[in-house]
Amino acid sequence: MTKRAFNFNAGPAALPLEVLEQAQREFVDYAGSGMSIMEMSHRSAIYERVNNEAQELLRELFGIPSHYHILFLQGGASTQFAMIPMNLLPAGKTGAYVHTGSWADKAVKEAKLFGETAIAATSAADKYNRIPDLASIEMPDNAAYLHVTSNETIEGTQYKAFPQTGDVPLIADMSSDILSRPVDVPKFGLIYAGAQKNLGPSGVTIVIVREDLAAESPKSVPTMLRYETHVKNNSLYNTPPSFSVYLVGLMLKWVKAKGGVSAIEQLNRDKTMLIYDKIDQSGGFYRGFADSGSRSMMNITFRLPSEELEKQFVKESEQNGFVGLKGHRSVGGLRASAYNAVPLESCKALADFMVEFQRRHG
Ligand SMILES: *Cc1c(COP(=O)(O)O)cnc(C)c1O
Repeated sequence: MTKRAFNFNAGPAALPLEVLEQAQREFVDYAGSGMSIMEMSHRSAIYERVNNEAQELLRELFGIPSHYHILFLQGGASTQFAMIPMNLLPAGKTGAYVHTGSWADKAVKEAKLFGETAIAATSAADKYNRIPDLASIEMPDNAAYLHVTSNETIEGTQYKAFPQTGDVPLIADMSSDILSRPVDVPKFGLIYAGAQKNLGPSGVTIVIVREDLAAESPKSVPTMLRYETHVKNNSLYNTPPSFSVYLVGLMLKWVKAKGGVSAIEQLNRDKTMLIYDKIDQSGGFYRGFADSGSRSMMNITFRLPSEELEKQFVKESEQNGFVGLKGHRSVGGLRASAYNAVPLESCKALADFMVEFQRRHG
């Protein structure tokens, strides 16, 4: 049997073994074509089917209404930080941002290059260890949109509910929690996510955008950076990242086979509770970074009594087959990323390892 790591990488991250094995089986001869998916024209009927199927599955699984477009773009979620203001932030309007941490920070910095921005709420005073109270969000009068980061991958915080924004489009960076739980898509004007955490490999970014918001871009926006271009061309304006889109399709089929997004959410809850419980039961040996009401079901961030012990934890975890547990350099400590594809067994193994580590070093 293939030896697989207990993979807690933050992104790119674990993919289901079943998905990798299916891709392996189809690798050199996709659907009897005598070619790999990577070797065929993106204008071919076979690839068009791959492209459409992935869209349809995502629509079905995530409950995306027909007046939303689904786009497969390149440039990562980071390019969306710019595309959003380029397309949706006209002069005289303000792009409002909830500042929850590292990724929200990058989003607002990029928007500042294009127009007026405002911080509608922030948890900076608490070192971003929580999502601000939704009631504390102050919208500027002339808001073009409100941007939120549904899950802060680095700090390990996550919205439990989303703000009501009325007529102002709500925009969400869901890079690190898309499809990990059901979401009321019609609440949002635009949702985007790099695929490499919950949806597949790197190289493709998913954008879900309401029809009216993608209808027209300012004249000065380059062709490739206009939502309109990709809507009109069914994400085939230029050569798409075809292998990545194909893998996203396999990943979506896997989610469906697991029982859909609600079933995945329950599994994610079970997985993360195993680890949060060990933190809470450790008598202060492990300290969670996030405030308990804002804890992420994807990225579990925690500290040990000393940096020495944190280094030791990483070292011993690696000797025991764990990967990716070192926290991001900006926060320090440890981080376990347990995205959709991370199996329950990995989380059980980590919970056991945490108990054992504390027994030896606590
Ligand atoms: C990883 C991540 C990004 C950056 O994604 P890229 O595809 O690397 O540009 C943006 N936002 C969040 C919340 C992320 O987790």
